[in-house]
Amino acid sequence: MISAAGVTRSFLDGDREIPVLRGVDLEVAAGELVAVVGGSGSGKSTLLGVVGALDQGYGGEVVVAGERLRSLGPAARAALRSRRIGFVFQSFNLVPSLPALENVMLPGLLRRGAREPRAALRARAVAVLERVGLASKGSARPARLSGGERQRVAIARAILARPAVLLADEPTGHLDAATGAEVIRLFAELAREGAAVLVVTHEERVSSAAGRVLTLRDGRLG
Ligand code: ADP
Ligand code: MG
Repeated sequence: MISAAGVTRSFLDGDREIPVLRGVDLEVAAGELVAVVGGSGSGKSTLLGVVGALDQGYGGEVVVAGERLRSLGPAARAALRSRRIGFVFQSFNLVPSLPALENVMLPGLLRRGAREPRAALRARAVAVLERVGLASKGSARPARLSGGERQRVAIARAILARPAVLLADEPTGHLDAATGAEVIRLFAELAREGAAVLVVTHEERVSSAAGRVLTLRDGRLG
């Protein structure tokens, strides 16, 4: 589902080129939960940006959900991101003024092209909120939810389109240990249901639930 070969990425610091990824090879199959651990600044978010089709300044080859990223134009890349890839971030990225249910519906409301009727979208959002154990919290705004509940809303939003690939950047970074463990369990379940799940984190505890743990060090995965 995710296949990266020889991925390189560097950034310019003035006129100096700083290599961050120096040849990363990574395969994540459907049904797998893979954790990438690495220290702060090791390039974890950079790697997710490449795999998530957000960053095009990389070298090497990346195939996600059957699409060779380099061959896609902007519209196809955006479609891949919105239909096949779900993103979860450390800071949840929920809209504070919207209740949980509408946060979950948002990607469907913002989608360009053929739009789903609002009632159908709403029904799917209710179903994914139920899926993450928050059936009763649909009308609550994020400020009224705990950190773990906010992250589960963000996960519900990420899985609304039934993405083949789920990418999570430090998803438990703002959660206590017990709540973080719940979130990781949820990722493991989503993998069992067939998603390819890639979680990057500097927290060793996250990796215990993963089928495979890879370490990003000196720009390479081992
Ligand atoms: P991690 O997520 O593992 O903490 P990052 O992938 O965010 O690490 O960053 C890895 C390195 O790349 C850091 O040294 C960071 O400063 C640098 N970096 C990341 N993004 C950029 C950017 N857009 N421009 C310049 N440097 C960047
Ligand atoms: Mg990061």
